[in-house]
Parts: sequence; C-alpha cells; structure tokens
Amino acid sequence: IWITFEGGDGVGKTTQARLLQEWLEAEGRTVVRTREPGGSEVGRLVRDIVLHHRGDIVPRAEALLYAADRAQHISTVVRPALVRGDVVIQDRYLDSSVAYQGAGRVLDAHEVRALSLWAAEDALPDVTVLLDLDPAVARARLDADDKPFDRLEAEREDFHRRVRGAFLDLADADPDRFLVLDASLPPAALAEAVRARVGSTL
Ligand code: C5P
Ligand code: MG
Repeated sequence: IWITFEGGDGVGKTTQARLLQEWLEAEGRTVVRTREPGGSEVGRLVRDIVLHHRGDIVPRAEALLYAADRAQHISTVVRPALVRGDVVIQDRYLDSSVAYQGAGRVLDAHEVRALSLWAAEDALPDVTVLLDLDPAVARARLDADDKPFDRLEAEREDFHRRVRGAFLDLADADPDRFLVLDASLPPAALAEAVRARVGSTL
C-alpha cells in the first residue's frame, strides 16, 4: 500500500507521515518513508538544483526537473518497495507538481499532470492525504517553529492561494483517492483520522 501526503508548505505533512509510520511499524508493518523532491540518490541532486537555484529556473525547466526526480524515485525506490510488500509513506507526489508547477507557476495543469504520469509510468497512490490550511496560518506556524519559510517567503501570497485551491480541486476530482483534512486540527486528531482511513485500506 502506498500513501502520499500533500498540501502547502508548513501544513504538517512531515509530522503526519512520521506518526503514521510509527503506528504502522507498531502494527508490525515494514515501512519505507520517502519524499519528493529528493527521495532517491539522483533525486537529492535534483532537489538541490530546484531548491537552491529557484530564481534562475524557468517554469518548464522546473517542471521537467521535478518530473526527472519523480521518474528516478518511482523506479528505484517506490516500485521496488511496493513489490516487496512494504508500505510506502511519501511526503509529496504528483499532486504537488500540478499545484505548484501548474497553478503556482501557471503552466497548464493537464500538461503537468500528463508529464508526471509519463515520468511515473502512471503510478498512483492508494491513498492521498491532503492537509488543507490557510497559507497565512501555515506561515505563522513555520515562523513559530523557527523553520525557514522556503516558498512562503520567496513567493507572493497569491502563489500560495493558487496552490491551495489547486490541491482542493484535485481532491474534488478524485474523492476515492483523497482524504482531505483540516490541518488546523491538533496533530493527534489528524493522525487518528489518517489511521482510520489507512487502516480500512490495509
Ligand atoms: O515538502 P518540502 O518542504 O520538502 O518541499 C520543498 C520545497 O519545494 C517547498 O518549498 C515546496 O513549496 C517546493 N515544491 C515545489 N514544487 C513541488 C514540490 C515542492 O515548488 N512539486
Ligand atoms: Mg515538510
């Protein structure tokens, strides 16, 4: 089984991924926790490019770099883990590309999705948890945790509003795959909702 966490910067994806991993391992499952960009060795090089040379990369090049990261990651990390029967918990996947490179960078969302699906040979997760939060609240959280803002600092506010809207549209279009949660709820309550959904899929 393959679970992805999606949502804007600072919504708590990493925390929820970790809590789900702890629960599944306590249940005796073997878990591979991974992320995009940067879930493979080559992908870590790509992550370095997309995060540290942001200002220099044109939108189509950025989309292709994320797609290259994705192709390498799915082929060398995710598929082998799923074939072994492991549970894969992944921080961000193709919905992030549709939201950030599509709605955020204003590329065509269908083209970005098609590019991602080509890169990943059509692999789609069993469950996608969307942690939905007002970008202003997310930013305040990152601030309080003394974490770098990344995009929240570098981009204009409307960028993050478009990204949030795109994630919600994606969830609306695929209710079977998506579990949408209000990320302003306490982490323990969110973790319980995630466990209920994942538990019913195991
Ligand atoms: O999720 P994580 O914090 O590792 O993401 C790193 C940065 O890359 C974030 O600032 C996120 O906004 C950005 N990103 C992006 N497009 C993606 C995935 C992540 O712009 N497809
Ligand atoms: Mg994170």
